[in-house]
Amino acid sequence: MAKNAETIWVNCLSIIKDIVEWQHFKTWFEPIKPLELKDNVLLIQVPSQFFFEYLEEHYVNLLAKTLKRELGKEARLEYRILVDSGNGNSRSGSMDVPASHMKTYNNNEMNFPLVIDNPVKNPFVIPGLKKMQIDPQLNPIYTFDAFVEGDCNRVARRAGKTVAEKPGNNSFNPLVIYGGVGLGKTHLAQAIGNEVKRQHPGKVVLYVSSEKFINQFQDHSRNNAINDFIHFYQLIDVLIIDDVQFFNRAERSQDAFFAIFNHLHQSGKQLVLTSDKAPKDLDGMQERLLSRFRWGLSADLQIPDYEVRIEILEKKMKNDGLEMPRDVVKYVAYNINTNVRELEGALISLLAQSSLNKKEIDVELAKKVLRNFVKTSSKEITIDAIQKMVCEYFDVSYDKLLHKTRKREIVQARQITMYLAKAFTKNSLKNIGEHFGGRDHTTVIHSCQTVKDLMDTDSFFRENVMELTQKVQLAAM
Ligand code: ADP
Ligand code: MG
Repeated sequence: MAKNAETIWVNCLSIIKDIVEWQHFKTWFEPIKPLELKDNVLLIQVPSQFFFEYLEEHYVNLLAKTLKRELGKEARLEYRILVDSGNGNSRSGSMDVPASHMKTYNNNEMNFPLVIDNPVKNPFVIPGLKKMQIDPQLNPIYTFDAFVEGDCNRVARRAGKTVAEKPGNNSFNPLVIYGGVGLGKTHLAQAIGNEVKRQHPGKVVLYVSSEKFINQFQDHSRNNAINDFIHFYQLIDVLIIDDVQFFNRAERSQDAFFAIFNHLHQSGKQLVLTSDKAPKDLDGMQERLLSRFRWGLSADLQIPDYEVRIEILEKKMKNDGLEMPRDVVKYVAYNINTNVRELEGALISLLAQSSLNKKEIDVELAKKVLRNFVKTSSKEITIDAIQKMVCEYFDVSYDKLLHKTRKREIVQARQITMYLAKAFTKNSLKNIGEHFGGRDHTTVIHSCQTVKDLMDTDSFFRENVMELTQKVQLAAM
């Protein structure tokens, strides 16, 4: 029987369904449309660039494996990205990804690496290869322009720009960018690489994850080719190594890295490293490497605050040609305060749900989607956390919240905070009072009563309290 795109895809889904969680399946796989099967290439349509990237990041292996099962070893997957304004009326049908962005699987390499269309060259090919032939392994979407600046990342971003302008010739060598997951380390590191290529096309740039570096090193050491390996890396002008924390399990790779580091640094070449921890907290890393990391600059990435989160969402939407009501953007930015990746994930979920169910994107839908999106780990919420949420919500400073003032908004914000602290923490009234600049427990009782009364009479006030309540609930899940 001749196989068509539809049946192949249905078969893939039946496997995927058993593997991924239901909600993820609904969000990430149901909206995909199989378009065409030609030879061994399945063309699928995804709702947005975000969606595509999310799949790429999280489900590459799964997709590749299931497809291979269906179509055999030569299987490839191609994407078409739909430009969808998010409210159901998709703009100008579909659009092919420009060739340079077209991603395909190429399964004759180890473990289905995702390969960008202009084929990624194996960085370890011909001895004596010309410098220019080294593919930098950069994704062009990661630029400085696309990286929103805020207090959370200013130092790292600016240092990155300097490095890109004058690679090797600045006081940030190595530049170590560190921070938790999804805060933009890879983006920023790649932006440096892309910017170097833009400003200095002749420079040899290479981006590599530490895992890949380690794998390659191990391959070469099995083949007695460690010198080739080290020599190759010594050709690079700007070497970017992502997630160096994974070196902790690879002592011998660290030796190779040490040799490469020294050579590059001495020859005025630039090193850019990222890590999930500050260098001083990197366990299992040789001291001689750590001391070299201190030669340059370590800059951290923090969680963006509410305003920056809004800006990031707006930028993503603009880049993808999407629109969404302002209050929804605010709602998402407000409620997703873990990291930027989750922020993007929430946005895509929302888009996916909206196009899937032909529903308009509004706060109602956002609430629904986010409810499912938030992880359900049960944790104790603290008075401090509640105070922070209320401050953010009403845009008052922490000092003002505690300060003696008769300004009505602030008094009310404080009363609501006490009310929430009473409702959601196990603290005594006395304890709560102490968290508000040493007020006594009768003040707390009075506050709680006032909030309850106002909720009965003032619908706007009630709305605020309900929203905050939901927010605290989410944080405590
Ligand atoms: P990490 O490597 O720290 O885990 P990534 O660099 O993969 O994080 O970032 C996760 C996602 O968040 C990426 O899609 C990235 O583009 C986006 N992102 C992170 N920080 C910013 C920012 N300041 N502005 C715009 N997008 C950002
Ligand atoms: Mg990363």
